[in-house]
Amino acid sequence: MSVALAQDPARDLEHDLAAADAALGGARADEIVAWAVGRFGDGLTLAASFSDCVLIDVATRVTPDLDVVFLDTQYHFPETRRYLEHVRDRYGLRMRVVRPRVAMDDRFRADPDGCCAVRKVEPLERALAGRAAWMSGLRRVEAPSRADARVVAWDARRRLVKINPLAAWTDADVGAYVHARELPVHPLTGRGFPSIGCWPCTRAPHPGDDPRAGRWAGSGKTECGINTP
Ligand code: SF4
Repeated sequence: MSVALAQDPARDLEHDLAAADAALGGARADEIVAWAVGRFGDGLTLAASFSDCVLIDVATRVTPDLDVVFLDTQYHFPETRRYLEHVRDRYGLRMRVVRPRVAMDDRFRADPDGCCAVRKVEPLERALAGRAAWMSGLRRVEAPSRADARVVAWDARRRLVKINPLAAWTDADVGAYVHARELPVHPLTGRGFPSIGCWPCTRAPHPGDDPRAGRWAGSGKTECGINTP
């Protein structure tokens, strides 16, 4: 797929990104990754939460040597750590683990926004410093706050291009891909956790609830901040 951005990224950037987004809106995830690799080369980073490995599987089939970042908040489930190690070894990932600049504390109890700021938002900005573009497995159906997510967008906060190759995927699409590719599944997925974050802020949602209802349950908080403008 041929979708060119202007050579001067400062010139009408929003127009160019909107054109790329429109052209790639109906493309397969691997086509979107291939476009991103072709456009940004080694300046492209994949930020992975390791709640599943769908995007890792898609992306490494396009480019096995992709730069992968994992944000170690210090509060991940032991199951997530074991799953990460399994996926890392299975794919031979070139992975950077980025840790917060603060020690463990109980800030998540009284100030979850501040806790996410120092354990997720700031480490991601550090990890993406000097990069040209980043992508993640964000999907529109995951939450109302993600319903308008574009495939290609400008991340004004970090001054990078953001790519969401799985933006249009439904839960059924994910399930079908995992089955077809025989991908390893996070152990907590089978125990009723459709969305997996840090253990203090994640529980299994009640039947019929929004899949992300178990994240920061009862607090009104719905996003950690890395996916919000
Ligand atoms: S999800 Fe919870 S524990 Fe993890 S960084 Fe955010 S507030 Fe802290």
